[in-house]
Formats: sequence, structure tokens, C-alpha cells
Amino acid sequence: MSSAIGSIVVLSGGMGGARFLQGLQHGLRAGTLPGVAPDAAVTVIGNTADDCWMHGLKICPDLDTVMYTLGDGIDPERGWGRREESFHVKEELAAYGVEPTWFGLGDRDLATHLVRTQMLDAGYPLSEVTRALCRRWQPGVELLPMSDDRVETHLVLADDDAPSGKRVVHFQEYWVRLRASVPALDVVVVGLENARPAPGVVEAIAAADLVILPPSNPVVSVGTVLGVPGLRDALRATAAPVVGLSPIVGGTHVRGMAHQLLETVGVEVSAGGVARHYGARADGGVLDGWLVDERDAAEVAGVTAAGIAAAAVPLMMTDHDATAAMAAAAIRLVRPDAGA
Ligand code: GDP
Ligand code: CA
Repeated sequence: MSSAIGSIVVLSGGMGGARFLQGLQHGLRAGTLPGVAPDAAVTVIGNTADDCWMHGLKICPDLDTVMYTLGDGIDPERGWGRREESFHVKEELAAYGVEPTWFGLGDRDLATHLVRTQMLDAGYPLSEVTRALCRRWQPGVELLPMSDDRVETHLVLADDDAPSGKRVVHFQEYWVRLRASVPALDVVVVGLENARPAPGVVEAIAAADLVILPPSNPVVSVGTVLGVPGLRDALRATAAPVVGLSPIVGGTHVRGMAHQLLETVGVEVSAGGVARHYGARADGGVLDGWLVDERDAAEVAGVTAAGIAAAAVPLMMTDHDATAAMAAAAIRLVRPDAGA
């Protein structure tokens, strides 16, 4: 008999990760996660490569999505930003002709960015700022930014009007203004190679009993977290099993733009393609286990052949019960002894 799972680390992007975490917490509360202690601690290592500066404010979309979702402040329809939001400041800025006008900065949300920016200006690192913001929201997890250093994802696009034939846009502009509607030639994550893991990140992975890669974007969410120097080494060194859940279902993304960006970085757009991209831990990668959706059951053999334990289960996060069942299946895959 092995000991109960007392600490879980989740590497998360924004909406996909936050939704998964809601289900995980639901499973914890309901006691439906095999072998997991009822008081298990969850540490979230959040992507900060979506971060941007706008109107003089530091905005951390993925950290805020996790914080608002788990703290019950999210707008459930949009999946980002605050509920009962208004956009007066955005309208006033637009009336002044101040760019960018396409970013949805809500009035309530603005308070978060003001507090964050003031604290950063006063010299606090992002990890401490995030902790302070979470004191209000009580997300029930420890939310750590992947790094306190500035990291920003940019996309290289074709532009016939530019002398080089290319131009570069920030991730937010690609996603929010362009709706990922034009193909990206390349993904450039500025600052990533010099970023250091935030305090507590490597320690949390080392101390974990289980590490989960939820259905988050494999390129611009989980990919950027894994790109922080030292992160992969920590994952390879931990005694905890590392299990992921495919964000690709039936050959494409469920939401977002994983499809486009996987093509950009030359990864096969399939549940198995993403698993092989992450790689088997025994083979220099990061995964011990990988769940694919039922309709991708034919991919299981290819993933197993790559040295990664795999199974096909329903992977649609339709409600908290369904998502908790996904978390339970992930645990069973890599800890078959758990709660047996
Ligand atoms: P982030 O990557 O977590 O910041 O957030 P996104 O919402 O942009 O990406 C989430 C990823 O998870 C996308 O690639 C989606 O295709 C995928 N995804 C979203 N909802 C589901 C779901 O219900 N099930 C599965 N398996 N994947 C999902
Ligand atoms: Ca994101």
C-alpha cells in the first residue's frame, strides 16, 4: 500500500486550466479522487507568457482567470474577466483615441491591475503580488506564477507591406484582435530563456505526489511554462508521476487556437501528437501518462509505443462532475495503486 496523495501540482494556462482546477477541487471536496487525501494541497504553476502591459498597467490574463474562476469572481459566460462587469473606462480611453481599443479591460478588473502595478512599482515580485491578490479571492490553491521575470509570447506573421515581409504581434493582439485568424509563421517567447522559476515553483514540483498537465494550450500555455529554464529538469527529477490530459479532441482543439499554433511549431495536431511532443519521461520528456478522449481511442497505441501510459476516457469538461471524473481517471492511470 502506498501513501495517500497529499500534494498536487498543476501546470496551468487560463480558461482550460481553470476549468480543470474547478473540477479537481470538486473531486477533492466530494472525495471522488482515488488515493487523494481530503486535505491535499494543490499548487498551480501559472503561465505568465500571456502577460502584457496596457495603459501603463501590468495584466496577467492566465493568473487572473485562475484566480477569478476559483475565487468565484469570474464571468461564467465569457470565461474571463469579472462578473457584473462594466466597461466605462475602456469607452473613455477609446473616446480619447488611446490605443489599444480592442482589449477588453473591465472596470472591476481594472482594480486588480492597479493593485498589481502599484505593488510591482513598489518592488514586490509578481509571485508576492499574486499571493496578495489571492488573499482577497481565496482560490483554495497556491497560485504561483511560473516566473517573476518578464516573459511575453509574440507571433511572427506574414506582412507584405513590411520591408522584411513579416511583422510581430504580441500574443494578446493575435488572440483578441486578430482572433488567431491568420497563420503564424513562428512563436517567439521573449525573455523565456533568461527567466528563472518563481520562488516555490521547483520546490513544489520536487515535493509533489502528483503533477498534472490539464487541457491547456500545449504551445502558449503549458509550452511556455515548460520552457522556463529548470522546469523540465524539475519535472524529470521529481518522484511524482506526471500525467497530462489532451486538449486536442477528435483532431482539433475544443476551444482557442491550439490547432493553429501546433501547426506553427510543427507538431501533429492530434491527441497522440501532443503527447509525443511532450515526450516520455523515460525518454527525456516530461510525461508518465496521457489521457485521450474516447473518440481518440485509436491514438492510445501510438502513445503507449512512445513509452507513455495512455487510456481513452471522456475528456469534455461539460460540468464539474465530468471534470472531476477526468482528474480521477488521470490519477488511476499513473497511480493504479491509489485508493485501490
Ligand atoms: P489555456 O491554454 O488554459 O490558457 O486556455 P485555453 O482555453 O486557451 O486553452 C485550453 C485548451 O484546452 C485548448 O487547447 C482547448 O482546446 C482545450 N479544451 C478546452 N475545453 C476542453 C475540454 O472540455 N476538454 C478537453 N479535452 N480540452 C479542452
Ligand atoms: Ca492563456
